[in-house]
Amino acid sequence: MIEGIVPKALKEVIEEISQLPGYGEKSAQRFAGNLLTMPRGEALQLVDTLKQMLEKIHPCKECGLYTEEELCPVCKDESRDRQTICVVEESFDAFTIERTGKYKGLYHILGGRLSPLEGITAEDLNIDRLVERVESQPIKEVILATNPTVEGEATASYLYNLLADKGITISRIAYGLPFGAVLENADDFTIAKALEHKFKM
Ligand SMILES: [Zn+2]
Repeated sequence: MIEGIVPKALKEVIEEISQLPGYGEKSAQRFAGNLLTMPRGEALQLVDTLKQMLEKIHPCKECGLYTEEELCPVCKDESRDRQTICVVEESFDAFTIERTGKYKGLYHILGGRLSPLEGITAEDLNIDRLVERVESQPIKEVILATNPTVEGEATASYLYNLLADKGITISRIAYGLPFGAVLENADDFTIAKALEHKFKM
């Protein structure tokens, strides 16, 4: 970047976006550049939509799924199987599983995965609430559906050890995917199969 002639307001945006996980300076520049190239009305509409999302969306107080209400539609739905909890890393993983229409239980969103390299420990994740739910509700099975990555596997093992003495069945989702793939990118069929072939840990 030619430091001297980049307008201050643009530089600030690029700096802030490049702080986001998965964004470097190049992708931040592209994002800012695209916004500036769009018709100004559309760009402002996009910014307004983002602002509304930030004001309205928060984690469900029960399971952590992103929702606009206090409780998400899954937690509110009395017809769901309330004895099974599927544990995922992010809300988007639950949205993906839900799209298959094959899963009728509850969810629990960890808000990430254990990652010593990134300094993410058990305290940073929504784990205490999971243990509380298992202990205080008539839960019979917990399905660990963290991603089949090194961190996802480590997180599943950690949770298994934590829940092993709670008198419940603990399953790990089976993957018809190469190790290292992520749930969010899998097709519906693969995810439906993975749930079908989950195995007891
Ligand atoms: Zn919920």
